Amino acid sequence: LMGYVGFANLPNQVHRKSVRKGFQFTTMVVGESGLGKSTLINTLFNTPLYPPKEPLPPSAERPKTVAIESIGADIEENGVRLHLTVVDTPGFGDFVNNDDSWRPIVENIESRFDSYLEQENRVNRQKIVDNRVHACLYFIQPTGHSLKQLDIEFMRRLHTRVNLIPVIAKADTLTDEEIVAFKARILADIAHHNIHIFQAPSYENEDEETLAEAEEIASKIPFAVVGSDNVVDTKDGRQVRGRAYPWGVIEVDNEEHCDFVKLRQMLVRTYMEELRERTNDVLYENWRSEKLLSMGV
Ligand code: GDP
Ligand code: MG
Repeated sequence: LMGYVGFANLPNQVHRKSVRKGFQFTTMVVGESGLGKSTLINTLFNTPLYPPKEPLPPSAERPKTVAIESIGADIEENGVRLHLTVVDTPGFGDFVNNDDSWRPIVENIESRFDSYLEQENRVNRQKIVDNRVHACLYFIQPTGHSLKQLDIEFMRRLHTRVNLIPVIAKADTLTDEEIVAFKARILADIAHHNIHIFQAPSYENEDEETLAEAEEIASKIPFAVVGSDNVVDTKDGRQVRGRAYPWGVIEVDNEEHCDFVKLRQMLVRTYMEELRERTNDVLYENWRSEKLLSMGV
């Protein structure tokens, strides 16, 4: 169960050197209240980043996230150091008027750009701390219908500032057929509204295995995820992280059951470098030019 994360095996040779020096990676979670954002963070952190925890009693409910908060961990693999931060945002959608609920989130992302710019402008630029958000998981309610107006508004506010990765929350509440149809519908909505989600760049001269892995990941977007704090017993006597139902167990770490493993693989292994690059070269650069323009520079 406890595999390692795999970031030390980044597939692209060119990236290895920068990675050896040690680096920072920040992921943010955004979406309506109750969609399992905090649980998924815990699920991401729980396997490879922390030793297994005592399972929570079934009655234990996670307190509501009320402020933007970040959780960090230093992990090391094969001599590569990674400082991983996850930014948890309070859920929205609870209020009659949710019009501006995207604003504090965009402000948080931009203030991280600001702090980076300030460091770049210093005389001594040796120790720049990169707290920029490199990926944003956007949680979609598992309705099986189309995207909500609120989702479209949020994604349109966010997509020019952060690498958006849409995920279908609580995928254990949908059947396999419903997930396939819902994914197609979501991608159509996203295209229709000209929302830019993170797309893996395609490289030439990659080996077959790398290309196959890239294709496999791309085919899963939006990732149908299941989070769980609990270890449960399967019918065949294994102990797994999952959610138990009268008819059986949905296993978080089983690729036949949900896309959690693929999502983690994309974030911390296959595309971590690409996510960092696009954040720096495109998103941050665009923000910086807009800022300079608005200041009349
Ligand atoms: P947040 O408000 O988005 O942070 O949501 P929480 O992580 O606090 O979870 C809200 C509720 O949904 C809790 O009771 C969780 O146990 C439950 N939950 C979280 N993830 C899942 C999931 O993947 N499937 C199901 N069925 N329930 C989940
Ligand atoms: Mg929460």
